Amino acid sequence: MIDSILSFLAHGLLQASAPVLIVYVLVVTQLTIFSVTLYLHRSQAHRGVDFHPLIAHFFRFWTWLTTAMVTRQWVAVHRKHHAKVETAEDPHSPMVHGIKRVFWQGVELYRVAANDKSIEEKYGRGTPDDWIERHVYSRFPEAGPTLLALASILLFGFWGLAIWAIQMLWIPFWAAGFVNGLGHYWGYRNFESSDTSTNLSPWGLWIGGEELHNNHHAFPSSAKFALRKFEVDIGWVVIRLLASMRLAKVLRVAPALDLRPNVHLPDSETLKAVLTHRFRALTDYYRQVIIPTLRDEAAQASERVRAVPSRLRRALADGGRWLDGEGRARLQAMMERRPTLQTVLDYRARLLAALDQRVPEQALHNLQQWVREAEASGIAVLQQYAARLSAYALPAAG
Ligand SMILES: [Zn+2]
Ligand SMILES: [Zn+2]
Repeated sequence: MIDSILSFLAHGLLQASAPVLIVYVLVVTQLTIFSVTLYLHRSQAHRGVDFHPLIAHFFRFWTWLTTAMVTRQWVAVHRKHHAKVETAEDPHSPMVHGIKRVFWQGVELYRVAANDKSIEEKYGRGTPDDWIERHVYSRFPEAGPTLLALASILLFGFWGLAIWAIQMLWIPFWAAGFVNGLGHYWGYRNFESSDTSTNLSPWGLWIGGEELHNNHHAFPSSAKFALRKFEVDIGWVVIRLLASMRLAKVLRVAPALDLRPNVHLPDSETLKAVLTHRFRALTDYYRQVIIPTLRDEAAQASERVRAVPSRLRRALADGGRWLDGEGRARLQAMMERRPTLQTVLDYRARLLAALDQRVPEQALHNLQQWVREAEASGIAVLQQYAARLSAYALPAAG
């Protein structure tokens, strides 16, 4: 009798072996990750994909059961992150709050924002508002994890409690800390977006594809996060699988970039494509114009490119946006010894200004003017870039 009670306390009704427990943990935590990235994020916050009501409701139920997060609150906080990114109003910007705080206390930052009714009102529109949402999910968010704890202990005994604790930490750690923190701090950038977002790894396998956070900031409403040949987005694989069974409908994906032959001066099609792909255009500008110019001037002065600290090289990519006063002064001093670099950075600023023009005719006029001047600049890499930029086009629909 005592033995069977002890055995129940230790291993619960199922008496599951260690490998079974490990597989169980992996499955349920990944299901939670998918609920967040596919349902809360890609579908509800950004409307990139729609799910069959059965799938959508499963994700909602699972989010409630394993995270206690309320859809409307999550969506609102996240939309505000995009709208106010890297400003004092961004709910979890490492640029504002510091990387340590966002990484370790990201969940606190989330809670503060989630409890702010004004954020919910302004950014939470269009999320479910049916009977079960009002009477169960939003009303008793903590009931989900409580129910889960009871079920887990019943099925797996003491180990069930340990597994439950892991589940409770999963989203706070991987989403609030890892993605919100490191996804704006560490990794590579495909797109020179106006924030600090980064791709943590080209293979988004562990946190549902959220690893590709820079791609996501460049095209927020795209249901697909992997945008280069070598990138993998496991969340997109799941979407495609569900779509093949008519359980999901993709609403938006990031457009590709086409290059047309024999375009000598930007036209309205160029402008549309450059505006859509402006972050890509800026990345190309960094790689194809700024870095070769830096290399050239360094070679002429018999210096190594590495002589320029990486922080300043980074600043050349984003226009020095994130430098403090001292960094700016150092950048300035560096530019004084490199006149061609200064010139190409001026061109970068003027390209941005041209694209910021709201009246399309004026923007096109400015872009054409920019291309003419770039072609007359006598700087070969800049001329090549201008020619390529003029050829930008969006692929034909369908
Ligand atoms: Zn972000
Ligand atoms: Zn987003």
